[in-house]
Amino acid sequence: MKNNKNDFETKCVHSGIDEYEFGSVVPPIYQTSTFKFKSAQHGAALFAGEEKGYIYTRMLNPTVEALENSIAELEGGCKGLGCASGMAAVHTVFASLTKCGDHVVCSAAVYGPTTTLLNTILKNYGVETTFVDTSDLNLVRAAVKPNTKVIYVETPGNPTLAVSDIHEISLIAHANGALMVVDNTFMSPALQRPLELGCDIVLHSLTKFLNGHADVVGGIVVVKDEETYGRCRKTLNQIGGVIDPFNSFLVHRGIKTLSLRMQKHCENAMKVAEFLESHPMIKSISYPGLKSHPQFELGLKQHKGPGGMITFELEGGFEAGQLMMNSVKLCQLAVSLGGVESLIQHPASMTHYTMGKEARLAAGISDGLVRLSVGIENAQDIISDLKGALDKVKELQTAEVEHS
Ligand SMILES: *Cc1c(COP(=O)(O)O)cnc(C)c1O
Repeated sequence: MKNNKNDFETKCVHSGIDEYEFGSVVPPIYQTSTFKFKSAQHGAALFAGEEKGYIYTRMLNPTVEALENSIAELEGGCKGLGCASGMAAVHTVFASLTKCGDHVVCSAAVYGPTTTLLNTILKNYGVETTFVDTSDLNLVRAAVKPNTKVIYVETPGNPTLAVSDIHEISLIAHANGALMVVDNTFMSPALQRPLELGCDIVLHSLTKFLNGHADVVGGIVVVKDEETYGRCRKTLNQIGGVIDPFNSFLVHRGIKTLSLRMQKHCENAMKVAEFLESHPMIKSISYPGLKSHPQFELGLKQHKGPGGMITFELEGGFEAGQLMMNSVKLCQLAVSLGGVESLIQHPASMTHYTMGKEARLAAGISDGLVRLSVGIENAQDIISDLKGALDKVKELQTAEVEHS
């Protein structure tokens, strides 16, 4: 099994699974805050790190560890750190790798709260960030400073779906003594494995594709070596943003179908993207699987599939966007993404609202942009739903033209 390069599907089912008491085939949920020592000496040996075992759930818990091992294996990393949310994972990474006086280069198109974290909490701690379009390598090179410690990339970026070259950016980072971090939430390890391309740390919002069922908030950091693991684990212990055993169990269960789900997300999103691209009410569309996507070729090299996320701009801007979202029936009007159900939202007034208009426009997030997370329903049903909503938008515009 180890030699089979295509064993990802098998890993989804079996990674992180061990032998358990009573022959349980899935990891038991160790819903306990603390663990009994066999003796004073045993407790002392655990704290000294001389023996392996569990002490306290914030530090390590068997159910959480099973999930961490699973995702570390799927990403081809050394170890994972389960976090309470994707943002807890982002915070853990920056708190581990930066200190006052350091500099960060970050993708301009990035998860909204990540921008806010860098611009507020990290900034207040004396860490400066330069936001650039990381799909342009020259901009990345120009942004690096002698004190740059982290190049942080989201690819495809949220919500523009700009694709950045992970391997080339990792070379820029390493030449400057910095580490490269990739937020791999939009792709999942089923479609993209940044550590294999040269990046140092991968993180995820488990809330999205990895869990896949819209019923858990969680995050994970996967590192490529023990040294980085030690740094991050110490920070996570102190910050305390750990995932709990029950949520770990749910995410681990979700991962068993990750490979299947991602195939279906890609298949459906491709059909939906082709439909939207040919529709007269769509001004522009961004989907890495379309030949019209500016980094289509890079995408073919870098990821195994273009994923389930589509963004598009409607003719008619903001008003048209709101009408469309109020007209869909199957697609749910909600933020978040990566679940089995299709979700639709409006970044300018929702997920990227806190960025402010100027920064939003600079990052390519216009007022009429709509973000769609394509689920695993029947593709034709999703298309019919979108078509019905687009017809309403068209009616509105025709009426407006007649009135003017
Ligand atoms: C949702 C998301 C996050 C944050 O994750 P939470 O679990 O909501 O804290 C970070 N990055 C990306 C790309 C996301 O989509």
